[in-house]
Amino acid sequence: MTGEPTPVVIAGGGLAGLSMAVFLAWHDVPCLLVERHRGTSPHPRARGIHPRAMEVMRSVGLETAIRSAESARALADNSGVIAAHSLAGKELGALQEQYVMDVRTDLSGLSPTGWCLCHQDEFEPILRARAEELGARIRFGTELVSFTQDTGGVTALLRDRDTSATDSVRASYLVAADGPASPIRTSLGIPFEGTEPLGHYLNIHFRADLRAQLGDRRFVMCYTFNPAVRGALMPLDNAERWLLHVLFDPREQAPETFTGERCLELVRAAAGVPDLAAEILGVMPWEAAGRAAGRFADGRVFVIGDAAHVMPPSGAFGSNTGIQDAHNLAWKIANVVHGHAGPGLLDSYDAERRPVGAATVEQAVLRSKDRPRMAQEAPPPPNPAIVPDTAVWFGGRYTSGAVVGDGSPADGVWVAEPAGLPGTRAPHVPLERGGDPLSTLDLFGRTFVLLAGPEGEHWCAAGERAAARLGLPLEVHRISPTGLVDVKDAWCEAYGVTPAGAALVRPDGIVAWRADGAAEEPDRVVADVLRRVLSIDAA
Ligand SMILES: Cc1cc2nc3c(=O)[nH]c(=O)nc-3n(C[C@H](O)[C@H](O)[C@H](O)COP(=O)(O)OP(=O)(O)OC[C@H]3O[C@@H](n4cnc5c(N)ncnc54)[C@H](O)[C@@H]3O)c2cc1C
Repeated sequence: MTGEPTPVVIAGGGLAGLSMAVFLAWHDVPCLLVERHRGTSPHPRARGIHPRAMEVMRSVGLETAIRSAESARALADNSGVIAAHSLAGKELGALQEQYVMDVRTDLSGLSPTGWCLCHQDEFEPILRARAEELGARIRFGTELVSFTQDTGGVTALLRDRDTSATDSVRASYLVAADGPASPIRTSLGIPFEGTEPLGHYLNIHFRADLRAQLGDRRFVMCYTFNPAVRGALMPLDNAERWLLHVLFDPREQAPETFTGERCLELVRAAAGVPDLAAEILGVMPWEAAGRAAGRFADGRVFVIGDAAHVMPPSGAFGSNTGIQDAHNLAWKIANVVHGHAGPGLLDSYDAERRPVGAATVEQAVLRSKDRPRMAQEAPPPPNPAIVPDTAVWFGGRYTSGAVVGDGSPADGVWVAEPAGLPGTRAPHVPLERGGDPLSTLDLFGRTFVLLAGPEGEHWCAAGERAAARLGLPLEVHRISPTGLVDVKDAWCEAYGVTPAGAALVRPDGIVAWRADGAAEEPDRVVADVLRRVLSIDAA
């Protein structure tokens, strides 16, 4: 065994693995991330960071860095999806469905942040830098070759790709963030089932001055339908850098047949400019499918990101779902490692993220099948099984031991108006403290938070006493004219309680429990809730 044991080893340094490293380090959990590539993704690939993922990034101090990235600044005004024969050709229509929350939709009533378009090749280095700044150890060019687990931990064999030197490391937990093919998931025999491939695509990254053809349009994506190319064109800087997704059939054309010359033909056809001068910067084949793992955990191994679920890009849910897997898991591992929770808390990772992951895959598949309607002259209505984007971002409901339900019926994963329901994201309510504006969401992220209504002093006192008795870190706040000022008088309604009520919010911003009003024995109630949610034995 080389080196000190570490609480967590993360295999894979894509968006999910790097986010995991950030969140663990944020919670003061030492971790080692190994990534077999020598650097972060050189390809702009995923770029839509949806509002919930931005909230999560904001909670670890990354919102400004992400919005300051070159692509985020260049694309800050881009919105909407259109269809056309080609960029220079006739426009066929625009995606105008009720369920699509456009990048420019005003979400200020729902969230303190919103959409951000930031390319993966800029986002990953931001995550890496933050993880290292917070103390995570990151080794690129290092592969996890194999692992074993026993009752006390996991032993992983690592190999340096440059020197071929191997070393082994002992950890309490292994996080498999090793992508859709996930050797770790496969070695554990976890099924990965869902749709057959929904399409094979070539992602062509190119440089060409298309300012004249773009004009003053600022879309996110333009589907191109013409006999020479069926694809989707995406501006990377509204000027010279572009991505073209091309649909192809691998039974008729192998990806290798897309030579530089062939890619240039496709780019010219999508642009609608036969003699366009273009430079092909990179080509990446990918397969769209909808699949989810049958288990998100196996003993001391947790599966996150594309290793746990793959989905078509329609809706831009893919990496955002992986980021939320990491966010859900990190505080749980942290509480167990720091001795604040029993190991049973970790069971809630699979119980919470698997149903939401599978339901998100379903929504992405439904959206991908729905998109071709926009090119029809009189499109039929969308599939009624599609739920609005806001429900997918904010409305997933967890049912697990880490949530104390209040008897509200659970009817599927998506909740149209969560309103403080235990198991759902704690709502955004604008507040003021000392004259400074803040969101309720700015209170969450490190520890559990007990938020009490204006007449909920007894809950605050009970929370402080229960936390002291259990030796747990707990933040306690009361909505009041002299403390957290409820500027819109909205907190009680948003959290579904009376002024004498309270809500307990987990470090991941999920409501763990709420009380409608006062209770006879608030100390006992809060202590019982904390014990249940954290799987602490009642001894
Ligand atoms: C064209 C396209 C557009 C997309 N657009 C969006 C979008 O707008 N929004 C969105 O949210 N999602 C989008 N997605 C999805 C998104 O790209 C993926 O969901 C996301 O990148 C997956 O991240 P990941 O970290 O889980 O996996 P990956 O990015 O696949 O990373 C896994 C990493 O693990 C490493 N690895 C594997 N095995 C080992 C090992 N044994 N040892 C060490 N390292 C290992 C690999 O080298 C790899 O770097 C898009 C996808 C595509 C293809």
